[in-house]
Amino acid sequence: MKTVEEYIRSIPDFPEPGIVFRDVTSLLQDADGLKLAIDEMIKALENVDFDIVAGTESRGFIFGVPVAYAMHKPFIPVRKAGKLPCETVSQSYDLEYGSATIEIHKDSIKPGQKVVLIDDLIATGGTIEAAAKLVEQLGGEVVKMLFLLELKGLNGREKLKDYDVESIVSYE
Ligand code: IMP
Repeated sequence: MKTVEEYIRSIPDFPEPGIVFRDVTSLLQDADGLKLAIDEMIKALENVDFDIVAGTESRGFIFGVPVAYAMHKPFIPVRKAGKLPCETVSQSYDLEYGSATIEIHKDSIKPGQKVVLIDDLIATGGTIEAAAKLVEQLGGEVVKMLFLLELKGLNGREKLKDYDVESIVSYE
């Protein structure tokens, strides 16, 4: 049986020279790869006590929803600014060039609720750190950050020392 890592395609020099892009579409387009990835993520949450899955736009939706569905939990989309129709809280964070803002609906989390954050990949950790701040703005507690892939060399875990961070596949 193939491992999750064997389903991931690595594309050199994308989106710019020197970057190796880890492409999850090669996993998603294979039924066995998709099932394996979701099953592994569910396994990582088996002993976690949580109320809600939140996933970051857009590949966090792809992995977050099936996990939430299988574990009979609700799903919250963490969206790019300006996309959600009701009252939101927002959080900005730095990108390599410039900044980005993400949002969630104000009524999506109640104080004290336990939230698992899911994304396809952690690089610098900036996106997921901002997502955690959104959850905390509403009084929620981030009990785990779960990723399919981790780019270890970018030290995302450094800025996420206060959180329980787990990834299925880690690249040096
Ligand atoms: P961070 O905020 O630096 O941790 O970047 C993580 C975000 O960038 C995630 O939402 C990823 O989807 C995206 N990302 C960064 N590098 C890659 C990659 O090599 N493959 C797929 N997504 C990536």
